[in-house]
Amino acid sequence: MRVLVIEDEAKTAAYLRQGLSENGYVVEVCANGKDGLNQALTVENDLIVLDVMLPGRDGWSILSALRKAGRQTPVLFLTARDTIFDKVKGLELGADDYLVKPFDFSELLARVRTILRRGPARQEEILRVGDLQLDLPRRKATRAGTALDLTAKEFGLLELLARRRGEPLSKTLIAEQVWDIHFHSDPNVVEVAIRRLRSKVDDPFPKKLIHTMRGVGYVLEQR
Ligand code: CA
Repeated sequence: MRVLVIEDEAKTAAYLRQGLSENGYVVEVCANGKDGLNQALTVENDLIVLDVMLPGRDGWSILSALRKAGRQTPVLFLTARDTIFDKVKGLELGADDYLVKPFDFSELLARVRTILRRGPARQEEILRVGDLQLDLPRRKATRAGTALDLTAKEFGLLELLARRRGEPLSKTLIAEQVWDIHFHSDPNVVEVAIRRLRSKVDDPFPKKLIHTMRGVGYVLEQR
């Protein structure tokens, strides 16, 4: 289980790292909001422990950016006692739980275990980008109501792009996520797969959704 801790107070971060590691979790710590969000978007974590007051970008904006990108990683908020923590706001943004500092580690561990037992919350069942619709449980894709005939891999690729709609994804990242391989040798694999996907998703329709970002990769969005 991977836990990402986004916390700028070195003492708290070290305490969390040590305690969670001792309990068998793989822990990554980010000390500022920008790196934290970047890490949350590029690595698949099972849980994010997120401080509210952070340099660079606060916890609220990290959570909302994460959910906007379609990422459903559970989030446990940490908040200082003297900070007015708006529980309603946190839950509306999609936080799973929160803890007020200072907290006992045993309390944190209990919350972490409860959240992880629950599994990923609020899984999006239908992803929509423009008139493109992905029905995840049924593995079916349609555009403007017309069914798209996709292979399982093509659907997987489109799902990745749709989950992270609006976000440019590199070929390396796509290769890792869709084919579960790390290769730097042959970016053609991704290019070919994108070309095939486009022939089904974009070519028959006037409005294109898959866009090439020169030197970066690909992005799925309505323009
Ligand atoms: Ca802080």
